[in-house]
Amino acid sequence: MVAAGTTTTFPEVGGHAGFDLVDTVHWRLDDRRAIDTLASYDDVVRWCSQTGVVPEGTRELLDMASGAPQTAAREHTAVIALREAIYEAVFESSESAVELIAREYVDALTRSVLDHDPAGPSWSWRVPSDLTGPRAAIAVLAHELITSDLGAARQCGDDACGWVYLDTSPRHNRIWCTAAGCGNRNRVARHQARKHP
Ligand SMILES: [Zn+2]
Repeated sequence: MVAAGTTTTFPEVGGHAGFDLVDTVHWRLDDRRAIDTLASYDDVVRWCSQTGVVPEGTRELLDMASGAPQTAAREHTAVIALREAIYEAVFESSESAVELIAREYVDALTRSVLDHDPAGPSWSWRVPSDLTGPRAAIAVLAHELITSDLGAARQCGDDACGWVYLDTSPRHNRIWCTAAGCGNRNRVARHQARKHP
């Protein structure tokens, strides 16, 4: 897989941040085209910032990462393992993937505190504000996702795309990650095939 990195905008078509994380791999089902847009720890921090998974402290995390590159690299590797575990747990029913998420979730909770949610009258986990924060936040959302109702979990109908999402369409008949992207491309391809068999 090619590591792209420094993508300015990450896709958010998954309907859950856990699936948006899986979708940071483009063309997952085609080894020759696959691109990993989380090429470094800094990309993980940027993804966490864009999606609101770790809404604050982006600048501080990036500064800490440049001062402790080995720790940042280890955290990057662990986040990628968590991302792949989400995919394998949901779409391949992998027990080892579920075990990894369980371990990371328990570890995340031991390092986090339940705190007043600044956004409303509730409580939420405040993850550590060090380099392990993004991994902890991702472990919490991975656990939330795999223990929720996964009946609507889908993978894009394209042969190569591989993006995943929760199908919340009224008739539960969403086939494509995006109508404008894979939907349109596949419609055009099918039309061309009919014209030039
Ligand atoms: Zn797609």
